[in-house]
Amino acid sequence: MRNDYESIRELFTKNVVPSYGRFELVLSHGAGSYVFDVAGKRYLDLGSGIAVCCLGHAHPAITEALVEQSKKLIHVSNLYFTEPQGRLASELVKRIGAGKVFFSNSGAEANEGLFKAARKFGHDEGRFEILTAVNSFHGRTMAGIAATGQDKVKKGFEPIMAGFRHVPYNDLAAMRAAISPATVAIMIEGVQGEGGVTPATPEYLLGLRALCDEKKLLLLIDGVQCGHFRTGKFQSFQRILEGVPGGEKFLPDGLSMAKSLGGGFPIGAFWLREPFQDLLGAGTHGSTFGGTPLACAVALKILEVIEAEKLADSARKLGAWMQSELDRLANDYPTVVKRSRGIGFMLGLELAEKIPAFAASEKTPAIQFVNRLHAAGVLTIPAGNQIVRLLPSLNLKPQEAGEGISKIEEVVKSLP
Ligand SMILES: *Cc1c(COP(=O)(O)O)cnc(C)c1O
Repeated sequence: MRNDYESIRELFTKNVVPSYGRFELVLSHGAGSYVFDVAGKRYLDLGSGIAVCCLGHAHPAITEALVEQSKKLIHVSNLYFTEPQGRLASELVKRIGAGKVFFSNSGAEANEGLFKAARKFGHDEGRFEILTAVNSFHGRTMAGIAATGQDKVKKGFEPIMAGFRHVPYNDLAAMRAAISPATVAIMIEGVQGEGGVTPATPEYLLGLRALCDEKKLLLLIDGVQCGHFRTGKFQSFQRILEGVPGGEKFLPDGLSMAKSLGGGFPIGAFWLREPFQDLLGAGTHGSTFGGTPLACAVALKILEVIEAEKLADSARKLGAWMQSELDRLANDYPTVVKRSRGIGFMLGLELAEKIPAFAASEKTPAIQFVNRLHAAGVLTIPAGNQIVRLLPSLNLKPQEAGEGISKIEEVVKSLP
């Protein structure tokens, strides 16, 4: 087993571009919310591959969809029509609002499509600038890093693509003040993920909608991480605006999706609201792989399982319970845990500043905490320097949530 670990590590050292700071775990298989490393050690996976494996690992419905569709058609290109792509587009439109969908293979590509739609929208008036939030994350392509409000993703890749500026998140006045004659769109995450698990406030969402209407701007929401039922509703803005006067009518003009959309099979998508749905006419945008019958069949199956098993409600309830437990930890261990963050199954544990046990290492407190959780048999994901993210599968069981919390508490307790 040790040999497996060493030999696989060696393959990476020799052959894989070292662009990731990987954790020292070699994973081989999984079942539900558990994954196993090559030595057979079991981990409770509270990261689900960065909010991707919404039905956990090795779900039989996903296997069946893959097997059945692969016996018919895997790929034919977008030169032709296929039923799964049409059906998936219709299911997404039904859950968002009147408009149309384009399929890509990833979140960054979905955002690229929205940027192109925005440029097309403003082209004849010479407007092109897109405002995004400080601490946002929108992907690793050239436009993605230009859109992302974090210097660390841009460093070394200058000149950065022109036409993006960053404004503090949840600050409507700052957004209004930042608009220039060249501005054409605003893009925000419904809940900032990589930047540290920060939900948009209802006032911010409604305010941005009114601002965009007033200034003739497109309001674009990056729902790549916070979407697909993670917050307890299909999209985070539907959850955030639940019961808020005026909230039931809220729609962005564009929405990107990926991550949980394929449950681990790569697929991304963007939706454009009526009347912007035909901005990208024939020949203006494309993807060889986008919306293959295989990817769409899997995504359709995932929607079916999530809704049949009421997994959004479950994520909402269990998420609320886990968050109350994180609050309890913040209360009981204030020198280690500062506060909980997030909504539904998009949660963060914000660590206190200056934890003495972490002082000796150069690694961020978040990474050191995540490493200790690995030793305890739990996978979580760092966000920023101080935040540990929990992004469980939507079908996490109550007893698994309990196990996760008690292991987190063990690690918290172990930090003097
Ligand atoms: C992950 C993520 C992306 C990028 O998605 P990829 O599939 O990695 O290209 C974009 N936006 C947000 C909010 C994300 O969390």
